[in-house]
Amino acid sequence: MRYLILSDIHANREALDAVLADAEGLYGRIVCCGDIVGYGADPKFVLEWFRNNATDIVRGNHDKACCGLDDLEWFNPAAKLSALWTMEELGEIEVEYLRALPKGPLLSNGFEVVHGSPLDEDEYLISIFDTAHVRPYLEADVTFFGHTHLQGGFSWRGPRMFKLDRPGESETERVHQLEPAHVYLINPGSVGQPRDRDPRAAYALYASEERTVTFRRVEYDLASAQGKIRRAGLPEFLAERLGLGQ
Ligand code: ZN
Repeated sequence: MRYLILSDIHANREALDAVLADAEGLYGRIVCCGDIVGYGADPKFVLEWFRNNATDIVRGNHDKACCGLDDLEWFNPAAKLSALWTMEELGEIEVEYLRALPKGPLLSNGFEVVHGSPLDEDEYLISIFDTAHVRPYLEADVTFFGHTHLQGGFSWRGPRMFKLDRPGESETERVHQLEPAHVYLINPGSVGQPRDRDPRAAYALYASEERTVTFRRVEYDLASAQGKIRRAGLPEFLAERLGLGQ
């Protein structure tokens, strides 16, 4: 089976549209590591798309915050404002959908899906050193995670650690052949708010029989997504950071 692996869409419709056009015909199932809403200006559209299409999905911290399951105490001011704005935009059906999203880890199709880490949906796994303590808790040899908005991955074989790189700025994809006897933690990157200094939308494709993971980047209509954020009265910083990719 071929899977489209998405994470951290953050209500960015333009980025989601570009990813779906780029990946057309290349996958059979849709997997999501959470944060479908929050920050961006199209929560209703993006949420409806996931409600109708995603098969394997876990909630992210912003999904939790945008349906009242979080007191927003630990959110920065921009995240808090956008969560409150999103709650106003969503109808009852959408809020119900967010409330019912499962908390990871989700084990299906022979791999695992989490938002932050297998231990804590709010934990940031940024460097390979952050991952050492979660390794004993991985239930499958491939785990997809999000939350950091940084495309890439880590693997181990015995005591040795390896890094999986994202495409360079002049590339649109990077293919990784998964090795037997390795354990993988893979981040598809953020569709709607990349923070790895590459503003292009990020996603991954996973071919389970061939055992390949392909990291891809695609340009999208950034100006339109930024314009909607500004017109919605959301913090300017949220529009600016899309252009910077951080
Ligand atoms: Zn996120």
